[in-house]
Amino acid sequence: MANNRDDFSKSTTLLMAKRVGFSCSNPNCRQLTVGSNEIESKSTSIGIGAHIAAASKGGPRYDETMTPEQRSSISNGIWLCSNCAKLIDTDVNKYSANILKTWKQNAEDETRKKLNGELKNITVGSPYLEVDLIWRCAGRSNRGYSDNNPIEVLDGVPHFVINHKPIILWDIYWHFDFVIYNNSNYPAYNILIESIGGIHFRYIDKLPKINNLAPLQNINLNAKYIEYVEGDYTLAEEITRPRIPLKFKELVLRIKYFDDQRIEHYTYVEFKDGKIINKKE
Ligand SMILES: [Zn+2]
Repeated sequence: MANNRDDFSKSTTLLMAKRVGFSCSNPNCRQLTVGSNEIESKSTSIGIGAHIAAASKGGPRYDETMTPEQRSSISNGIWLCSNCAKLIDTDVNKYSANILKTWKQNAEDETRKKLNGELKNITVGSPYLEVDLIWRCAGRSNRGYSDNNPIEVLDGVPHFVINHKPIILWDIYWHFDFVIYNNSNYPAYNILIESIGGIHFRYIDKLPKINNLAPLQNINLNAKYIEYVEGDYTLAEEITRPRIPLKFKELVLRIKYFDDQRIEHYTYVEFKDGKIINKKE
């Protein structure tokens, strides 16, 4: 029987596996695909070098514009465990070529970072959330004159002396996009934002009590911070200007979340020199 399949060579398949550390490339799985067997002379392997575009006509994601060389090249392969290899062929709309290429890229990036020691603070197998704060706008409103303006009495009635620099009661406000990223290959569940520092946001959109954040996805919330200031225009102007309020050096957030084993994880969010710092604990 003629073989019309553009299969991968053994060396291509092995390279595919090595490039992701022999772990399944599906971000929701990441199963190790090779390990010891009870028989000392053997090892067990459950990994498959799967085709992104099918190896033969009529197969999942088959792309007739590709040459046989392209179909059997490493760029058309993704390393998966045997379960996930079956899974991706059950629903080709859900598991499109683009999705599979993203899985592959992320799995290769993660493996390289682990190898370089860049990911050593991250527990393998647990979600990791990070927060970013994106400035949207800032401004101020005037609540009236402060009692600390000088007073003079005219016809027995006290009046504020309003010079060119009156002392005013200001509400200075900042609006932010408060973005929570899941920078891991593991889902996070029941995320809770706790403010444990000296100052607090005035408002952050509430997350539903039961929530989850899939790997490499993000949630965007509205956040507002208000500072009450007593002073002249120059002072108000100065405080409004920084995109991250100077007072944020007192802000500490604790993001609490669970992994799929119901183990708690925390990311602490602080600000230093106007920069956001995320620390996992
Ligand atoms: Zn898998």
